[in-house]
Amino acid sequence: MQKSIERIVGDSEGVSYEFPVFRFEGTDKAASSAYLQAALHAGELPGVVAIDALMPMLEKAEAEGRTKGSITIVPQANPIGRAQYHFGEHQGRFHLGTRTNFNRGFPLLAAPDVKLLPDTTLGTADQRLKSRLLQLSIGHDIVLDLHCDDEGLAYLYVHTSLWPAMADCAAAMGVDAVILWNEDTDGTFEGASITPYLKVPAEVARFDRRVATTVEYRGILDVDGALAGADAEGLYRLLVARGVVLDQALSTSGSFTGIVAPLENIDMMPAPRAGAVLYDVKPGDRVAKGALLATIVHAPGEAGGRTQLFAPQAGIILTRRSRRIIRAGEDLLKLVGDSKSADARSGTLED
Ligand SMILES: [Zn+2]
Repeated sequence: MQKSIERIVGDSEGVSYEFPVFRFEGTDKAASSAYLQAALHAGELPGVVAIDALMPMLEKAEAEGRTKGSITIVPQANPIGRAQYHFGEHQGRFHLGTRTNFNRGFPLLAAPDVKLLPDTTLGTADQRLKSRLLQLSIGHDIVLDLHCDDEGLAYLYVHTSLWPAMADCAAAMGVDAVILWNEDTDGTFEGASITPYLKVPAEVARFDRRVATTVEYRGILDVDGALAGADAEGLYRLLVARGVVLDQALSTSGSFTGIVAPLENIDMMPAPRAGAVLYDVKPGDRVAKGALLATIVHAPGEAGGRTQLFAPQAGIILTRRSRRIIRAGEDLLKLVGDSKSADARSGTLED
């Protein structure tokens, strides 16, 4: 395994950012290669500690000559966001300098060719970071972007072109749900990882062996040693299932039995009023149409000071907020409905 340091030039003199990259050299050029990154949203740490638990497993495999494909790992992909504190609160989701989401604005290339990447010399530091991360990842058969939600189940976003071919990956990782999407116009990292392959010949795209996914490892507070160990084993099983790592002692994962739903089925449930949220449901709960989801206490102690919110359709609660203060119009939770949502906003890649 080789460690190198990437350097991103900052937006003012004397400021630059660094992050380490770890590379395992594969022994078989024909084997699938993998790229893993975590904490693109810099405060989302379940994937970071999963990678920390995965590394010794990969080093053991390498020492025993079992790393067939090359593996590139970026445990903390966003040194800019990692350093952003605003009045004592960490802000790792948006770049403070440009107000741009760190997981938006990745270039959507017409083909998997790093020569097509835009020149970011005169761009902003976050654009240089995005360009570099994409450059590091392009060309790998397997690209995993490890995130987490507020509070939630473990789930994957997967482009429809990769499903059900990626069902073995979902089973290997042991996630609860898979959300299928079709179109990314905002340039998420996942979108930028799959878009270059959508218009090239099938023998180049190789959808049978391609993996690109945003992994949502539950909630922001689910940074836990036992979960990290289990998630590392899931990542390892995926690498074995796809032939990147050889491990004959590992049993197969079986078929995926979790929830599979298109993005259009998700109801985001905006809060009708601002106030304190009393949830009646938690991630994983199955709800019927009309079930009470949450109560917002917007005028405490007054008659009519509570507003209730009900399920627009039957489904499963995928996520909810980790904080209990809400503004009107902010989303209270994600409900994976049994059928298409009536909300026109559903259908956008939401991470
Ligand atoms: Zn995220």
